[in-house]
Amino acid sequence: MRPSDADARRAVEPVVCYPPNTLPAPDLALYVRARAGARKLAETTVPPRQGACFDVPAGHFFRITSVEGPQVGDLNLFNARDLSERFYSGKTRALHGTHITTGERMWSSVPALRPMATVIHDTLQWYGIDEFGGSVHDVIGTRCDPYTHHLLAGGQYHHCCHSNLTRALAEHTGLPLNEAEPLVHDVMNVFMCTGFTRDTGQYFMKASPVRPGDYIELFAEIGLIGCLSACPGGDCSTTHSSDVATCYPLLVEVFAPEPGALEGWSSPEPNGYDRSHGV
Ligand SMILES: [Zn+2]
Repeated sequence: MRPSDADARRAVEPVVCYPPNTLPAPDLALYVRARAGARKLAETTVPPRQGACFDVPAGHFFRITSVEGPQVGDLNLFNARDLSERFYSGKTRALHGTHITTGERMWSSVPALRPMATVIHDTLQWYGIDEFGGSVHDVIGTRCDPYTHHLLAGGQYHHCCHSNLTRALAEHTGLPLNEAEPLVHDVMNVFMCTGFTRDTGQYFMKASPVRPGDYIELFAEIGLIGCLSACPGGDCSTTHSSDVATCYPLLVEVFAPEPGALEGWSSPEPNGYDRSHGV
């Protein structure tokens, strides 16, 4: 039953859970300077409805570019030395909000809980938050997967991002599929435009504003294995988990800074909590 003070309780002002002013801030100017003199080390093209892995040494840069047509990518990150440390979408969302852009970071799972990568350039930063509450590069979605697809529509579809990432990780690491699959985790949805409906709070997607030539570029704070899937939803304007949407490849390029360009930077250590949990 609605209490007599319902209006007063609902009128309480919200407070931000994790004010970002105490987060260690990245030295973005240093990264941008180091990037200016960097040389290209490698590139990987992720085919439509497929996944691919790439290696990024600590202190290097990686850029994900839209080529040929609007396409969304589902990104996983792993510590290259310990695959149990991986991107932590939920905490990244709690720290930075539902979508990330320049100056914000992709944080790793506990107990390490440290920055894995820092966004240094985002050509879609202009998009901001639209009238529907939508924005780009989401850390709220999970990844399209064949289990949810089976639950909702039945059938066996093998090119959801979850499966694309699983196959790519297995191939890159040599792990069998059944060991690679549990390592796949909630993603950063590169170029995907999403939000929550204001009236019902439901997760929505809309056509990505990305166009060929747009890119997001990140600085690897630790040595990384990146794993990227070119989502079967294409620009995610209508449907996913099928071969219906038009899909395009995504380009990943890795850049090495010049020696000495990162003077003063060091790779972040794992989180300092002592893990005694009060015992
Ligand atoms: Zn997908």
